Amino acid sequence: MAVHHKLALILENPLNDAEYLLVKQTRPPKFNDEEYDSYVDSDLWDLPSTQLNLLEVKSEPSIAVGGAESWSGKIELKKFDVDSALNRVLEQVGFKAADVGDWSLLKYVEEAQFGPGSPINSVFVRGKLVASHPNLPESCKWLSVPSCLNWLLEVKPGNDRVGPLIVAGLLNEFVQSRELKIPSTLSYQEYPPGVVLVPMGSKTGKPFYTTNLVVFAPQNASNDSEKNGFIASGDALIVDPGCRSEFHEELAQIVASLPRKLVVFVTHHHHDHVDGLSVIQRCNPDATLLAHENTMRRIGKDDWSLGFTAISGGEEICIGGQRLIALFSPGHTDGHMGLLHASTHSLIVGDHCVGQGSAVLDVTSGGNMTDYFQSTYKFMELAPHALVPMHGRVNLWPKHMLCGYLKYETEISRSLSLPFRFCVLLAQN
Ligand SMILES: [Zn+2]
Repeated sequence: MAVHHKLALILENPLNDAEYLLVKQTRPPKFNDEEYDSYVDSDLWDLPSTQLNLLEVKSEPSIAVGGAESWSGKIELKKFDVDSALNRVLEQVGFKAADVGDWSLLKYVEEAQFGPGSPINSVFVRGKLVASHPNLPESCKWLSVPSCLNWLLEVKPGNDRVGPLIVAGLLNEFVQSRELKIPSTLSYQEYPPGVVLVPMGSKTGKPFYTTNLVVFAPQNASNDSEKNGFIASGDALIVDPGCRSEFHEELAQIVASLPRKLVVFVTHHHHDHVDGLSVIQRCNPDATLLAHENTMRRIGKDDWSLGFTAISGGEEICIGGQRLIALFSPGHTDGHMGLLHASTHSLIVGDHCVGQGSAVLDVTSGGNMTDYFQSTYKFMELAPHALVPMHGRVNLWPKHMLCGYLKYETEISRSLSLPFRFCVLLAQN
């Protein structure tokens, strides 16, 4: 599969080398609809970046980038039009190449297999401005690592947000996460810090081919959670172990590397979300399984024959001192549950939304449009900072994405007779 590339700049502030330049990210286009346009996501700041295109003929960039040799096994810069990409990004932030001292290749990050399109790998180039620049454009600001982490990890709804490039390029090194042993055959993404997504091959519907396994395994284990009214507590949590049997060995390795006090959360019963449950039951029969009753009665004994804790929405879960809230979100099925990670305000939406494309309602499992709409509004009221679907990339414009679903579903429902539409949707699943 062809891989796309992105060049991201890490520019240090000449007056304070603890600060880096962030640029306000462009919002998705408006809907031109008063209601939908009234739901506005907060500003999103990230490293300045642009697409990095391949050259027809290899050539040494005229702007020298040091340190490229140490990444030569992964990426050969000579193959790319680094000069134009660097100049394009500098223009975005109001600088010229002469304003910057030495450039160095800091990091090359390969994107996890989210699908359906090609992965977008990131090349992080670091530079230091030689002189302070009095006129920083309004769309730019200097921000320190602690401030970025504060925005990411102590989220207040409506506050500005920090995007995934600076997290992958710089911040993940500053966060004390538990050392996760993800098998080297799998790629994963950690955004926001502490929320790990491992796309694993699954029996899911086209155009996707993986289901995101979400893993929380905070560094600090806390034992005082049981007395505080949590429905379950543990040292690690995984959501939707839905990989197909070829990946069960890898899943077993992940489960074996996690603490014994494990909570498993299942958003709904579809195969591509529960096919790995039997692995967990075998590797860690002490794990606590949380799911809605309507989900559990559709999960076969071959997948899970032990006990479970029924949830119906509103319950709180404590994982290593961090709080998560279960959210009843019927529509896709009548037992569908979402999950909100309180400190980062990341919303795990199961199959309510996918990384791209339309929603699927499983009418044979109680899915219906009225519930779907209500759940969508409930999600929007939470003003999540990131949407984590089970198929595809994390979405950084949650309200916009949810409104997009509302608009699409409304238009389709008007144009098709409902029974026909449900058949269409079901066929896609
Ligand atoms: Zn599903």
